[in-house]
Amino acid sequence: MDPAAPGVPAGLVAAWVALVGGVVGSFLNVVIARVPAGESIVSPGSRCPRCRTPIAWYDNVPVVSWLALRARCRSCGVRISARYPLVEALVAGVALLAWARHGLAVAALGELVLVSLLVALAFIDLDTWLLPHALTWPLIATGLAVSAAGLGPATLQGAAIGAAVGFGAFALVSVVGEKVLRKEALGFGDVWLLSGIGAWMGVAALLPVVLLASVQGSVVGLVLLALGKGQPGPGQPAEAAGPPAAAVPGDPAALASADDWIPPRNAVPFGPFLAAGALEWLYLGDLIVRGVPSLGIFR
Ligand SMILES: [Zn+2]
Repeated sequence: MDPAAPGVPAGLVAAWVALVGGVVGSFLNVVIARVPAGESIVSPGSRCPRCRTPIAWYDNVPVVSWLALRARCRSCGVRISARYPLVEALVAGVALLAWARHGLAVAALGELVLVSLLVALAFIDLDTWLLPHALTWPLIATGLAVSAAGLGPATLQGAAIGAAVGFGAFALVSVVGEKVLRKEALGFGDVWLLSGIGAWMGVAALLPVVLLASVQGSVVGLVLLALGKGQPGPGQPAEAAGPPAAAVPGDPAALASADDWIPPRNAVPFGPFLAAGALEWLYLGDLIVRGVPSLGIFR
């Protein structure tokens, strides 16, 4: 597929693709803040989390508005977290990557769906230690659908086996871990997430993705331990990492206690690392295989 639309300068197409990605990222910021709280992602429109003033369209332009407003609400001056433009810029970058890989094609749109769901899940897990079914189940469904249509990296067979094996392997770790360690080793949200990654990327991608996630998770965990930081200990869930004011979804303490589970001290949620591992294997897989040739059999 020709990366440019016929008759339109490539620079203009690139700008449009980046804008679409930025708008998707802006929408993901809403998803990240509202889905864990069980709120509608459609209405009401974006409001300042402190003064509740509706945000005008010209103050809601991805990245640009945050810069123009110098990270403050126009009405009350409350600080707006740098995470908002970061998510927008991240998805804009991915949209450009998907366009470069597939052109203006349905496959590029599919890739944007995959990355959007992974980004939303990663940040929700960071904030709340939850991976909502409202996002993990659509991840599995869209993965199977895209693979069935032949528009993703996996065949339908590889995707179906990937979804099943991803679920089965982590479910086993979760159940056995809980029996042996007498504490939750792996949440069931991670089980559904890995199933979704299997549905999108195929069964062969599961092992490298889990490897990448584990190595990076361990490194970050050890660094946080060494710094004496880390995520919430008992009694102080989710707030320690300082999510932006707008993204505080309801009462994290209530969410954490809902399934009678408190994040361990100096622990980091695993979901963001699984999401990162999946994206790394998708975009940097060839590079990783060059460094670790034995992983080549999974490509
Ligand atoms: Zn305000």
